Amino acid sequence: MTTTNPQKTQILVIGGGPGGSTAAAMLAREGFDVTLLERDAFPRYHIGESLLPSVLDFLDLSGARPKVEAYGFQRKPGGHIEWGSNQWDLYFNELTGNHQYSFQVIRSEFDKLLLDHAESEGVKVMQCVEVQKIHFHDAAEVSQRRPYAATIAQVGESGEAWDINFDYLVDASGRAGIMATRYLRNRKYHDAFKNVAVWGYWEDAGRLPHPKEGAIATVSIPNGWIWAIPLHDGMLSVGVVLHKDSFKEKNSRQDLETLYAEALADNETVSGLIASGHRVGDLKVETDYSYASTNFAGPGYFMVGDAACFLDPLLSTGVHLAMLSAMLTAVSITAAERGDVSHEEATEFFENSYRCAYLRLLVFLTAFYHQYDGKDSIFWMARRLSNHDVPETKIKLAFTSLMSGVEDLMDVREGAELMTRDLVLDEMSRRVAENLQIRHDKKQMKALYDDHVREDNATFFGQVEGIDVIARGPEQAVGGLYVKTSPRLGLARVS
Ligand SMILES: Cc1cc2nc3c(=O)[nH]c(=O)nc-3n(C[C@H](O)[C@H](O)[C@H](O)COP(=O)(O)OP(=O)(O)OC[C@H]3O[C@@H](n4cnc5c(N)ncnc54)[C@H](O)[C@@H]3O)c2cc1C
Repeated sequence: MTTTNPQKTQILVIGGGPGGSTAAAMLAREGFDVTLLERDAFPRYHIGESLLPSVLDFLDLSGARPKVEAYGFQRKPGGHIEWGSNQWDLYFNELTGNHQYSFQVIRSEFDKLLLDHAESEGVKVMQCVEVQKIHFHDAAEVSQRRPYAATIAQVGESGEAWDINFDYLVDASGRAGIMATRYLRNRKYHDAFKNVAVWGYWEDAGRLPHPKEGAIATVSIPNGWIWAIPLHDGMLSVGVVLHKDSFKEKNSRQDLETLYAEALADNETVSGLIASGHRVGDLKVETDYSYASTNFAGPGYFMVGDAACFLDPLLSTGVHLAMLSAMLTAVSITAAERGDVSHEEATEFFENSYRCAYLRLLVFLTAFYHQYDGKDSIFWMARRLSNHDVPETKIKLAFTSLMSGVEDLMDVREGAELMTRDLVLDEMSRRVAENLQIRHDKKQMKALYDDHVREDNATFFGQVEGIDVIARGPEQAVGGLYVKTSPRLGLARVS
């Protein structure tokens, strides 16, 4: 760990979560001088334990994959889902040969591993150091002010403070979101996803039957849903997510313990898993309102992971989005510094790519919620996306390459934006329903659906997830630019 107080660095990264340490490691591997500041002493507790398989691709690019593979985290083959009256198992490898598995991780250990890895790649890591203030060059428009220095202070007794200058700022400060909440003041919450999560850890709980023992269980209950995630230390992480109004109403007449116990009792599978176990430690509570900032990047700065946007945890997308945006930051800075693209192009590429990935998942999430039968309950109400959630200017960009007809409708019809949003939601709902149908009966899967249907469905959701920015090269170009991963990270132009 760096002990002297650096006064200057090429790239300053705030936050040592998966977003910050992944961006820092990738940039250091590309030869930049990177300093990462983390307020806490690692290992520190964090929620967000179930990972998507795409994370493995980002770990390959940051060089951390062998360490994660060797660590002994719980392997995750997929998920067991009970949603309304539907019930099915999904295995990551059943539709295509890519992305076979992922991991369930104890975040304190996973995040420390990634932070140590960043340091081993040459990043100057400082823990127990808080960024207190960011200094900007003047500009008329707030989002166009370029940051150039930060005032930072040791956490704890000494409280020693000093300034550090930088060329680029990567804000990966998580939900604290220093840039968005303190300076840009541009974080907007989505009305449709204002939920509260209550969770705890169970010792000696059961596991799902073979071959699902490492899978996440995601089950709906009348006013929300529950996760059950098996961890490699033998614990089962079990969380209840309720709409904020439902949570408030219940919590006004019963304590948290009763609220949690009653919610778990609503589902037989989860009750069965915890029947043999006992809970260890206190319950934890967090609001998990979904939000996005109105811009994710500007001159000399990039906002990564939760610092830019957050999506309801139903689809376990948090760490994926953090690492995706970390990779997009690394390629954007690298391409601009090498002169392959202008700084403005790099910023715009990052902004559009990250926003498209987020919007696709937001629409997917909405379509998934719509599959639920009991739409009358408060939890499922008002889940339509508004203009404010999905800006018209971006929806076309996010969906033209994915869904045929989006562009035409957008261009020719009056009130086309509304039509486009509805069209996109309807098409996404159809795809989600198709996906559930394909996966429903494993024996019939091969017989009923030919390779083309299965592959088409898998490719579609691969693109929704956003990992295809790497895999599909020119086909997945945004604004004429696409991500290049070899021989070096960077951006290339569609010729
Ligand atoms: C209830 C719930 C369940 C979830 N479940 C999942 C899941 O199953 N799977 C999944 O992928 N995601 C899940 N998530 C989301 C996941 O937790 C986050 O998306 C993910 O941790 C984002 O990573 P990050 O690097 O952006 O931020 P973080 O991991 O939050 O890291 C930010 C870091 O910045 C540091 N920091 C903040 N301010 C400062 C400062 N001023 N100076 C220095 N350092 C600072 C913090 O100490 C922190 O370590 C869940 C979230 C919630 C709320």
